[in-house]
Amino acid sequence: MALDGNTLIAGPGASLTGLREARRRAGRVLAVSELDQQAFEAALARLYQSGAEEAAPDDLLFDLEGSARPVRERDLLDEAEDAPVIQLVNQLLRRAVLAGASDLHIEPYEGGLRARMRVDGFLQPVLDRADVPVKRIVSRLKVMAGLDIAETRLPQDGRIPLRLGGRQIDTRVSSLPGNYGERVVLRILDRSTGLMPLDGLGLSRDQITLLERLSKLPNGIILATGPTGSGKTTTLYSLLKLANRDERNIVTVEDPIEYDLPGVSQSQINAEIGMTFAAGLRATLRQDPDVILVGEIRDGETAGVAAQAALTGHLVFSSLHANGSVGAVVRLRDLGLDNFLIAATLRGVVAQRLLRRLCPGCRTAHAPTPSEAACFDKHNLPVPPRIHDAVGCTACNQTGYSGRVGIFEMLEVTEALRDAIDRGVSETELRHMALDLRETLVGQGLAQVAAGHTSLAETLRVVGDVA
Ligand SMILES: [Zn+2]
Repeated sequence: MALDGNTLIAGPGASLTGLREARRRAGRVLAVSELDQQAFEAALARLYQSGAEEAAPDDLLFDLEGSARPVRERDLLDEAEDAPVIQLVNQLLRRAVLAGASDLHIEPYEGGLRARMRVDGFLQPVLDRADVPVKRIVSRLKVMAGLDIAETRLPQDGRIPLRLGGRQIDTRVSSLPGNYGERVVLRILDRSTGLMPLDGLGLSRDQITLLERLSKLPNGIILATGPTGSGKTTTLYSLLKLANRDERNIVTVEDPIEYDLPGVSQSQINAEIGMTFAAGLRATLRQDPDVILVGEIRDGETAGVAAQAALTGHLVFSSLHANGSVGAVVRLRDLGLDNFLIAATLRGVVAQRLLRRLCPGCRTAHAPTPSEAACFDKHNLPVPPRIHDAVGCTACNQTGYSGRVGIFEMLEVTEALRDAIDRGVSETELRHMALDLRETLVGQGLAQVAAGHTSLAETLRVVGDVA
């Protein structure tokens, strides 16, 4: 239930008691509008969005869960004189969450305090002021995150669980000492937004079919590759969801747990106490799993255990830092896996990137120049009659872009490819065998340019380095 002006909007689950309570709190008679789930969620989202503009009192929407906070520290900062600090911090968090930011940076510098948030992969200024009590703001965040506020010389990690109008939001907090004070960066994990459906990720019908096929395999390794923030986790979770059936036991080892998946046993790694990806993976193998998600393969030990798990009849999903899809094979070799082991276990790789979507309100079209046309020719793609450029307007905050679209390069390890991997052929040769030019990240990016979803500049910025 939520209040929209003088109308109380209610979803299908609203109870009579709830309605009465809402009227009591509002202190006036309210019109009630009953909506189906989808309409209700849309209305709710709209209300939260508009809430960002007006100066609503913080406690209406922001409600700190933090019951785990030590009482002593909380008392320390709940003094009346710190109320403006608390309010400012709450406002910063609220703005970042409402903007859909992935990170919030709080940076002390010689001129005061700067706050920036990362939206669609780019940092945007939120606040830059000289007249704020920098130390107290940083201390407030550290208290909320359960960090030691007396320790200012060492980096620390913590988390702040938040609730914003019924949404559960987890944040990973990291502090780092600097010459003007401690920098604090919050990574925001909005678990309640749930998973995007596969076609919402930007996958084509054929790509979805391939993912479905891979998720049904009885054993093997399936990898997602790409830089941080390219949406790998979302893809892996989507695979898990496809693989989730009653007769299969699914366990995960993650860092951090980004979404709650019903019916799946999720574990958090903690390297400080020895719960590494490799240790977690070994432990999950004793839990009689059918499908295992390992957040990331970043060392030889984890790669080795993952390969053994796949050989012994488990389906393993994981992510890897590699450029393209074929790059995953090379990366596994670098991590110390033998070619025969890679050939015997690797079943598929999804390489992905996120491209900023052009703002439909201000993009402009032009006929491709000869050098722009050459980009399409080079990838065997028809040259589109018009392509679009980013401009910038008030709707897109002058960036020219709004939201993002995923592009995917998918590799299925076929019989022929397995032989080639086993023989240890080079990355270039593997790529020639495995991918049509249109299927590469660049090819997929150019297709998005041709469709008018993004600019050529954006595509080249994101995938230009991948041959
Ligand atoms: Zn615009």
